[in-house]
Amino acid sequence: MILLSSSTVKSDLVAEGAEAISLLDNPHSVVAGLKVLVIDDDPKAAKSLATQLSDLNSQYRITTISETKRMAAELGGDYDVVLLNLQLGDMTGLELLRNNLAGLPPYPIVLLTDDHNPKHQHEALTLGVADFVPKQDARPELLDKSIRYCTNLFKQYRLREQMSAQEQALTTDPNTGLHSLPYCFQQLANMFPATASTELGVIALQLHNISAVNRGLGFELENRIIRHYSQWLKAQLPEHAILASTSNHQLIAIIDGYDEQQLWTLGDRIGRQNVPFDLRPDCSPFALTHSVGIAVATPMITPERLIQNALTALHTSRISRTSCQRYNPELHKGIATRSVVMRDITQALQDELIHFAIQPQFSVATANLLGGEMLMRWKHPELGDVAPQLVIEVAEATKQIVALGTYALRSTLKQIEYWLSQNIILPGMRISVNVSAAELESPGYFAAAKAVLEEYREAAQYLELELTESIKLFDPQKTGRQLSELKPYGVSIAIDDFGTAHANLSQLCYIEANTVKLDKSIIYAADETQRARSIYRSIRKMLHAIGTKIVAEGIETTTQMQLARDIGIDIVQGFFLSEPLSLADFKMLLEQLRDQQQAHIALHGQTPPTPES
Ligand code: C2E
Ligand code: MG
Ligand code: MG
Repeated sequence: MILLSSSTVKSDLVAEGAEAISLLDNPHSVVAGLKVLVIDDDPKAAKSLATQLSDLNSQYRITTISETKRMAAELGGDYDVVLLNLQLGDMTGLELLRNNLAGLPPYPIVLLTDDHNPKHQHEALTLGVADFVPKQDARPELLDKSIRYCTNLFKQYRLREQMSAQEQALTTDPNTGLHSLPYCFQQLANMFPATASTELGVIALQLHNISAVNRGLGFELENRIIRHYSQWLKAQLPEHAILASTSNHQLIAIIDGYDEQQLWTLGDRIGRQNVPFDLRPDCSPFALTHSVGIAVATPMITPERLIQNALTALHTSRISRTSCQRYNPELHKGIATRSVVMRDITQALQDELIHFAIQPQFSVATANLLGGEMLMRWKHPELGDVAPQLVIEVAEATKQIVALGTYALRSTLKQIEYWLSQNIILPGMRISVNVSAAELESPGYFAAAKAVLEEYREAAQYLELELTESIKLFDPQKTGRQLSELKPYGVSIAIDDFGTAHANLSQLCYIEANTVKLDKSIIYAADETQRARSIYRSIRKMLHAIGTKIVAEGIETTTQMQLARDIGIDIVQGFFLSEPLSLADFKMLLEQLRDQQQAHIALHGQTPPTPES
């Protein structure tokens, strides 16, 4: 559509240009209603010139001015041509030009003069006059010719201006002012022969969750964020980088003179940073997260392929949640996998082929089983196990995220209901299900979640919602409010992966979490240094002070288990204690616990302490 309208505009411009040229080619052609201003301090001379011109060409609409005061006001007005006498009485024509034309775009002026001083002529030209006619030659025919010449000149000038504005619009993104992708291809093509191929690279970048912003908060804010992002990025890149944007809100930076290692260092540094953004003046800045992909030129590569490679790397970075991904041909396999997932996800949801494993969680103090985390599993006939993050990402891209989220929620509640019916789930136990930022911010998620919770009111008492990638929440305040509306159902809230780029302290201000799950990297770091252990002890104190329980996940060794105990963590989860189990195996664990409990009652005549106590 844009192309069509722009070509229409262009053809209009070409038609105008043709008209301008034909005007000069044919001295007898008449431009209807050509507006001519005659400035002369001698009213008689002005009047006589006007009469002679109208006699010659009745189409001219002539205005004459002789009062000095009006001259300045009229000069710069909407005239096709101005005939200006250079020798004015109390002010020279040059002065008039100097005082009134400085800073104006070129203006169509023909000077009538007997002043043959080349200095004056030069200055007049510099000030923008188009033509000179010596006064003694100012016969109507010659003036008429000069008027046509001047008109033609300015028509062409305006034409060029419009053409270049048009070109600009075609090669520039109106929102960010960045170059368009075709412009990038052109620039790359120009660079290729001159560049030692391996010293040229492309960085591709994209903000996360931008489509959620658009859905939830509108286009205007989305545009503001993209503008802000491109400005932020400019400041991170070397000055000579060429920055462009695609129609998909991906940004492309072409960087010349950087080898692969330098490009990687730059891309990785940018990818590790969050982009601070002020949503509203009264809010603390948001940290927008993004993904980065890089690709370097190889000897036979085309510009299109180089950019495509950077986009492939970007795409992989998004799926695998890395700060930066460099291109390698293997990545295409990942893309192929994704397209198969895309093809089959709807059917898998319909046929309930997506299942859940559950990883048990234990109390550090009593070693009791306290519940478990439901983890999504999909065994695809061609692909084998599909990573849950990929399922989520594809569901988001194919607008099935609410369907998938409610499917996970319903499956979990159904399972709890079944275990309750078997009398094997104890009061105080928690079964958690992961909920991603994309799910939470999808319109309709909370309404759908409430409807499911209504259906499973009893089971909901044992449910924990585990917020993954909570940093990606665009409006954590709003999400925090919506989550608190679920609390009356007895649902508790956990923040997952705490201490990583995906979740940090600021999340706690908005979301009233019952539990915080420390990411495995925290336990691994605590293993390394005394200082890290001291920091985590302080974090534990702070979290306990606000009544939040702490889970450490990813416990793989006895040392890590001991560390969790030293730090004062409440609950542990990890391969050391148990890998994720099938639901049937988890049921056996629950049954064992029930049997132990019954044995305890038989021995002691009372129930053992509940998991919570
Ligand atoms: P997460 O919620 O942090 O889940 C923990 C991940 O760590 C699981 O990977 C689990 O299998 C793995 N893990 C458990 N113990 C250990 C250990 O000792 N060492 C190591 N290295 N890893 C351990 P999984 O199942 O591949 O899930 C990955 C992520 O996918 C989850 O991270 C969660 O963010 C997401 N996810 C899983 N299921 C769902 C779901 O139903 N909905 C949503 N939205 N996300 C899900
Ligand atoms: Mg989790
Ligand atoms: Mg986690």
